[in-house]
Amino acid sequence: MAGSHKPAPKARPGFPARLDASPSMPLRSTVSLVRQPVNSLPQRPVGLGMDSSAVRLSMVAKLSQQGLTDTQVLAAMSVIERHRFVDSALVNQAYEDTSLPIGMGQTISKPGVVSRMLELLRQGRAERLGRVLEIGTGCGYQAAVLGQLCVEVYSIERLRGLHDKARENLRHLRLANVHLLFGDGMQGYAKGAPYAGIIAAAGGEAIPQCWLDQLAVGGRLVAPVAAGAQSPGRQALVVVDKTEQGLRQTVMEAVHFVPLKSGIA
Ligand code: SAH
Repeated sequence: MAGSHKPAPKARPGFPARLDASPSMPLRSTVSLVRQPVNSLPQRPVGLGMDSSAVRLSMVAKLSQQGLTDTQVLAAMSVIERHRFVDSALVNQAYEDTSLPIGMGQTISKPGVVSRMLELLRQGRAERLGRVLEIGTGCGYQAAVLGQLCVEVYSIERLRGLHDKARENLRHLRLANVHLLFGDGMQGYAKGAPYAGIIAAAGGEAIPQCWLDQLAVGGRLVAPVAAGAQSPGRQALVVVDKTEQGLRQTVMEAVHFVPLKSGIA
């Protein structure tokens, strides 16, 4: 990667990371999930003006009314404090079903969209997902939710400023199973492959072949993709299942995500 970037802190790999060679974080190490009850986490003043867990529960209740049925996704979203991932000026909107700016022209996805994609990714299974790759860390919110639902999460961001912001946002959660990577997610992250799930938070013209290559047989990819020449500028949510027989693609509803871009910045 570009030589001008400062080295990543030791506990987290840079990109590409030598996961297999790193004694501090061997890829197949026993994953220790640190799960602290939200109320025991160090609190910082947030100006929410109300008990944030009650507001979060109300957000989750609305998601449930809108048709979200996966109780594990609902539970994860009731734990992760979305207001900690947005600027203090936007804290009061943190539990509304709206996307919000996170800087550098990017947005944190709407809770309704995050929950929908996670529900699709999990396919209603009872157990946790295995290793998952997220493209587009942004502020780190969805990575934190994924951390509750998956054994291991690799999340890639191409903008250094947001990668650093996500690291800062996630620090207090101490999610040992969430690994933030700085790099071009269009190349996936081969060192962590194969993935039980791949989820993209930015939409391109097509699904990069390497994502499909890095998906495990039995795995599922969920990504926004340009709807095609007939509908310029529009995106649809696409689900790809990799089976012994090959790839099966299902086009779901229209969505609106920031563009998937190549390279780092
Ligand atoms: N899941 C994020 C959403 C962030 S928006 C959250 O919870 O906040 C999507 C992100 O994808 C943006 O930060 C954008 O910079 C990033 N992105 C776009 N193309 C990318 C690429 N090729 N590799 C990695 N990240 C990319």
